Amino acid sequence: MRFDTIIFGGTVVNADGRRRADVGIRGQRIAAVDRALARQAGPRTKLIDARGKYVIPGAVDAHVHLELQSGDRVTSDDWRTGPRAAAHGGVTTLIDFATPGPGESLEEAVGKLRALADGRPCVDYGCHVCITAWDRQGHELPRMIELGCPTFKAFMTYSRRGLMSDDRALYNALEACRRLGAMLLVHAESDAVLEELIARFHTPEMMRKHGARLHAMTRPNFIEAEAVQRVLTWADATSGRLYIVHLSTSEGAELLRDARTRGVHAFAETCPQYLVLDDSVFRRTDGHRYICSPQVKKKADAQRLWQGLRRGEISVVATDHCPFTAAQRDSWGGDWTNAPSGLPGTETLVPLLFTHGVLRKRVTLSRMVALCCANPARLMGLYPAKGVIAPGSDADLCVIDPQHRTRVVPDRMESRADWSPYQNWLLAGFPEWTLCRGRVIVQDYRVLDAAGWGRWIPRRKPAALP
Ligand SMILES: [Zn+2]
Repeated sequence: MRFDTIIFGGTVVNADGRRRADVGIRGQRIAAVDRALARQAGPRTKLIDARGKYVIPGAVDAHVHLELQSGDRVTSDDWRTGPRAAAHGGVTTLIDFATPGPGESLEEAVGKLRALADGRPCVDYGCHVCITAWDRQGHELPRMIELGCPTFKAFMTYSRRGLMSDDRALYNALEACRRLGAMLLVHAESDAVLEELIARFHTPEMMRKHGARLHAMTRPNFIEAEAVQRVLTWADATSGRLYIVHLSTSEGAELLRDARTRGVHAFAETCPQYLVLDDSVFRRTDGHRYICSPQVKKKADAQRLWQGLRRGEISVVATDHCPFTAAQRDSWGGDWTNAPSGLPGTETLVPLLFTHGVLRKRVTLSRMVALCCANPARLMGLYPAKGVIAPGSDADLCVIDPQHRTRVVPDRMESRADWSPYQNWLLAGFPEWTLCRGRVIVQDYRVLDAAGWGRWIPRRKPAALP
């Protein structure tokens, strides 16, 4: 058997276990996973030495925002730099969000995203489709599924920006997802009370007095919990498949556990910032740079979320990558009505999970692979092409040397955020090698020029988790 590339001597890690094996790649796919494949190397076979290292599937970051217009700012990573940042951190598939503008159809929104993206990324990509006006857009769901977008997103907040779905829209969308075999992603924050607290707290005096600390004051945990509870009720009533994005509270994790125990088709994603940061960041002089929605909560919430990741109540870790440069962030001038919201994340997803999850024994390495690779691939309709190291799967692979550490400093990062919430943190888990469909994107921790290699991946309907 001829191989183009053989990764030899490593420990191959999948969601269901690990073993010593070589990985043989032919073309863009994995052709064999077995012992002693290296003996079959031909004169032109590329050999990658993984002795003493882990070989994991390329991660699927199911929640990113590239080149997103937000007010008069655009997020600082575009479809070239964002995917480079992703590959640097071991992510080989990105899923963004197509959001229709006022009066636009869902199909137009997907078309606009692809016009920005196609031909530029070095890793594979797709998008969820945001439902912002159910009555006008609901009939488009079957067409979106045909286009390879079987996952929809609804916002329970942002009424002010014209993005909110009310209970009727959520109920209809979940019912349609049930009928069509699709899945509804939901940003769960309780709009009316959140708006009331913002109106109370975002006064010039309060802003001067409390600065970034106002973030935690306007979004107490019940803002998320009430919305999670309500949408779980609709998921239960309709049997529609629900996926809560960026879960940030222990209350939310409890509600998910109870609902899942009752048999509700509900899944949750959390993000690294909710696991490794806490709201003490808002007391820093640069606390405003940590503004994201929902905001990071207390240490006890982070602990509960880790527990949820271990026990299976939370199925996915994705990043909500939505970066702004330090200059963009500092331009808020203390005015909450002009504060960009979102954190860089995709570049440090795997390293943070490896360092603060696996090395600190909060999750096993296989569980990390489930959370960052296999589960998002299954839930987003990408499995088994993505998310697993097996013959026939895409050759999306990372080689991780557990002994190697990288310091997070802007010079060494690919993201154009030029600032990181994890600045100066020393992290293990950056891949020495990243391959996307057989092509080397990262070699010796450096991103090669592979712009345009990434393909739009039409996704199939979400699958169950084992
Ligand atoms: Zn988001």
